[in-house]
Amino acid sequence: MPALVLVGAQWGDEGKGKATDLLGGSVDYVVRYQGGNNAGHTVVVGDQKYALHLLPSGILSPNCVPVIGNGVVIDPAVLLSELAGLQDRGVDTSKLLISGNAHLITPYHRTMDKVSERFLGKRKIGTTGRGIGPSYADKINRIGIRVQDLFDESILRQKVEAALNDKNQILVKLYNRRAMPAELVVEEYLGYADKLRPFVADTALLLNQALEDGKVVLMEGGQGTLLDVDHGTYPFVTSSNPTSGGACTGTGIGPTKIDRVIGILKAYTTRVGSGPFPTELFDEDGEALRRIGGERGVTTGRDRRCGWFDAPIARYATRINGLTDIFLTKLDVLTGWEQIPVCVAYDVDGTRVDEVPHSQSDFHHAKPIYEMLPGWSEDITKAQTFEDLPKNAQDYVKALEELSRCRISAIGVGPGRTETIQVHSLL
Ligand code: IMP
Repeated sequence: MPALVLVGAQWGDEGKGKATDLLGGSVDYVVRYQGGNNAGHTVVVGDQKYALHLLPSGILSPNCVPVIGNGVVIDPAVLLSELAGLQDRGVDTSKLLISGNAHLITPYHRTMDKVSERFLGKRKIGTTGRGIGPSYADKINRIGIRVQDLFDESILRQKVEAALNDKNQILVKLYNRRAMPAELVVEEYLGYADKLRPFVADTALLLNQALEDGKVVLMEGGQGTLLDVDHGTYPFVTSSNPTSGGACTGTGIGPTKIDRVIGILKAYTTRVGSGPFPTELFDEDGEALRRIGGERGVTTGRDRRCGWFDAPIARYATRINGLTDIFLTKLDVLTGWEQIPVCVAYDVDGTRVDEVPHSQSDFHHAKPIYEMLPGWSEDITKAQTFEDLPKNAQDYVKALEELSRCRISAIGVGPGRTETIQVHSLL
């Protein structure tokens, strides 16, 4: 012990990479538990910037074992190229462990993702087009291909043929695309077997043994709470469980072993893709947040939608994940505003609603009720303690803490590794 979970508290892109990296030095294992290469972390180490999609950001910490848990979906070509890119820059990747139970993304998943989005027209989800949803759909339909299948040619062939049986009918008859020959997929995927074999392990067993040996295990979610397939803004969500419950199913670590659940919460709000977003800004303030915050997707290069802080969402994340701590990120982006609006509740068709509405239609109609907090103009990027922050920035953080109903234990005041204020220890 201890086991920690790190979850995005909004719609993803809250800056988890920075938090994992900050903890990385004291953490023995960093495990990704869901999602795939739809995620994107930017980690800044010195003057080097790393964009990671599939690998846990712990891969950049020399003493840490990075793990891809069973709940992740893996595109092997992407994984191998991400590993090669890091090796070229001198990063040691040899400690990586991959669960043999993790599912694979195949070319037919990527194709299905793109064509089904196109056919949804204006009801499209705005997926990253990486085949994430179709791969999880096959997992649940029990026709998925797992990492361990790569090591048995006959099983791999049978499974790919079974999965393509109905998919080829759909591709040809419904979407007017060419059928995908099973043999091509099998050949390509057999080519990955030897390259992946050294990393594959019973990660659930190893992680539980590590906890018994007193090691520190950090479970890192991709995306965020509001993109959770159960608790998010369905259907505008991803196809897995980024919330803390997903950390148990996606790693094989039981809930009684988890000590801390840390929510990463941006000091304002962003979202990529379609779906409701009550505090979204369409004016120059939104443009300024995007510009100053560098709010452009690491994975797709799409501009992120930007808006003010939404307290009902933060409270929702505290509740659904059982947060014990919040890591507040990107506070520095708000420097320079005379007043900062914070959404404290919603107006839903004339009624004040204090929590995220249960009904999808109500959430789509929700209009933010704002309270104005005084801003600050001083540069805060050099602040090392809470007391170093200007009074108005301190008050902003305290207000967010109260509204979120969870203590704020760390505050990001700049993109660099050291630009973080630690208020309470996260370990
Ligand atoms: P998918 O995960 O590619 O199926 O996309 C489903 C939804 O999740 C879309 O709105 C995506 O933009 C969103 N999404 C997926 N991954 C991320 C992420 O890492 N950050 C933010 N949004 C994401």
